[in-house]
Amino acid sequence: THTRKRIVAGNWKMNCSRTEAIRLASAIVTMYDAIDNVELLICIPQIHLADISKLLINTGVLLGAQDAHWEDKGAYTGEISASMLTDYLVSHLLVGHSERREMFADDNQRVAKKFAAALKNNLKPILCVGETLQQREQGATFEIIKSQCQAVIDEVGIGAFANSYMAYEPVWAIGTGMTATPQQAQEVHAEIRSWLAQQDESIAARLPILYGGSMNAENAESLLVQPDIDGGLIGGASLKVEDFLKIYSAAG
Ligand code: PEP
Repeated sequence: THTRKRIVAGNWKMNCSRTEAIRLASAIVTMYDAIDNVELLICIPQIHLADISKLLINTGVLLGAQDAHWEDKGAYTGEISASMLTDYLVSHLLVGHSERREMFADDNQRVAKKFAAALKNNLKPILCVGETLQQREQGATFEIIKSQCQAVIDEVGIGAFANSYMAYEPVWAIGTGMTATPQQAQEVHAEIRSWLAQQDESIAARLPILYGGSMNAENAESLLVQPDIDGGLIGGASLKVEDFLKIYSAAG
């Protein structure tokens, strides 16, 4: 019995052909055994939304996207808007994933605008924050995370976090197999929560903060038992049905 809502979210990144995506989502649906108060979400490539949204109807498995543009429409070649996603039963949107921050010019201001666009379109944003190895070694971890959060608070206000999620993803742990220790992750989660509590205690107490970074079937439980870790954002292991659902079970 956990006090906060919990969620295990898969981030498929740029993986899966159409056939592979359908096979993977079908297998997840087949193996899914709902746990009270723990949501299961898959954030998939946009091109598969039409197929997968049909497949997930009435299953309880939730559908998310990995990014969206902040405007509803316009001359933005190659982009997809948050408003377009709502036609496909998408309920959640990753915002500011470190791969987008690093490779696709998602700075704090853009991330804040995308977060606002998600809310405006009734999508629940999952704000991804985290430091690089260099920043951690310089002792700048929390300063970086604070500035990532502050940009969003400046754009939408602290109240917006009542309908949102946060994911702490140390950049050095993503896709590297170098998971943060449960103590390292818990320390940052607690620090985020107490910093937010200075601005709004009840929102901070209710905000689900997920951990992401090489979480897998073996290490999930040790992370998910930490008091301020409310779920996981899973990259690599979310492409393996059994591992993904083992992580989901560990969140219960
Ligand atoms: C991610 O992409 O958010 C992630 C945590 O990836 P991985 O689990 O592969 O480290």
